[in-house]
Amino acid sequence: MTLHYPDIFLQFRCICGDCRDNCCRTGWDIEVDRRTFEFYSGLRDPLAVRFVDSVYEEEGCLYMKHEGGCPFMNGKGLCGLQLLYGEGHISEICREHPRFYEWFGDYKEAGVGLSCEEAARLLMGHERPIVFSERQTDEETDSLEFDSKLFEGVKMIRERLIDILQDRGFTVLQRLGMVVFSAEDIQQAVFDEDVKRLKQISGMLAIDGFRIEMMNEAGDHYYIHEDQGLGRMAEIMGKMEYLDGGFGELFSLTREDIERIAECEGRFDREYGGSSYELENLAVYFIYRYLIKAVRDYAVKERLFMAVFCTLAVRLLFLREYAENGALPDKERRCFLVKEFSKEIEYDADNMDIIYGEIQDGGLNSDILCGLIFGEG
Ligand code: SF4
Repeated sequence: MTLHYPDIFLQFRCICGDCRDNCCRTGWDIEVDRRTFEFYSGLRDPLAVRFVDSVYEEEGCLYMKHEGGCPFMNGKGLCGLQLLYGEGHISEICREHPRFYEWFGDYKEAGVGLSCEEAARLLMGHERPIVFSERQTDEETDSLEFDSKLFEGVKMIRERLIDILQDRGFTVLQRLGMVVFSAEDIQQAVFDEDVKRLKQISGMLAIDGFRIEMMNEAGDHYYIHEDQGLGRMAEIMGKMEYLDGGFGELFSLTREDIERIAECEGRFDREYGGSSYELENLAVYFIYRYLIKAVRDYAVKERLFMAVFCTLAVRLLFLREYAENGALPDKERRCFLVKEFSKEIEYDADNMDIIYGEIQDGGLNSDILCGLIFGEG
């Protein structure tokens, strides 16, 4: 098996008791794999019995009963089961979180999800462009079928888009604009399963002159005004449900808020410029993690627009605090906002469905995104 991963995947280590937002306290469903359940079912000590008694079955899957947090976490934020029985005897999801994987035959992709504060800190602290590597493992080949040619095509175009996102000769906003511009063409080629066309698009996107031309074209077009884009973003975010109600408030924008934000945006971009690799990394993360899934469902445009939208939404969180306080939120606060965004939106299937639904219905389209990126044009 070939394992493909970004450098932060290998750097990641859970900070356990030092974590201020321990995932075991989040209140998410905790799935228990059969192997772990069977191990504890064969034991008689009180902790094992308590574990077995806490497991219930729903639609063929096993889950642990809990009221808002894992009942086996001790006062120091450590797992009581792991302390007693070792890492090999905790549920797979507990051992692996926040790592994610995607399988295509003898190829497997890995990464770390941003709902974890340590993963968010690694991504946000990565000043150089994120590097992807491969190595061989002895894992067995996955049996789920897929179109191997289309897989190669999507993987190739994803590499090109990541290359664009890491092209620091352009501003982050310009790079996001290029992703929006190329989305329709890539979508059509994937829909037609036209790998040759994907190669052509990738070839064009590699040319510096073509990238500059795309940016110039953006200036020649009229897009909706940015404040309409901000209003639409606030509307979409207002439809979502939040674990912590206060987080949703960060996206509720009055007319005065929008005016204040628009007025200080230039200053924000200048002051934030040196840290804009954070937004680059965020966009790379979304495209790396989600675009490859299009091999199975062809949904390219939804994922590209989602990646741009989410990156712009995080930028708006930074920008809003800048407008309110007259100073950039510090690094720790920015990491917190990214982690919260991931937890509240990315890791909530219903909230992600709202974004995808808006894209499918045309309520979140290239004009809205370009309005947010380029302003009036
Ligand atoms: S959120 Fe991340 S760092 Fe914190 S306990 Fe979970 S895996 Fe560890």
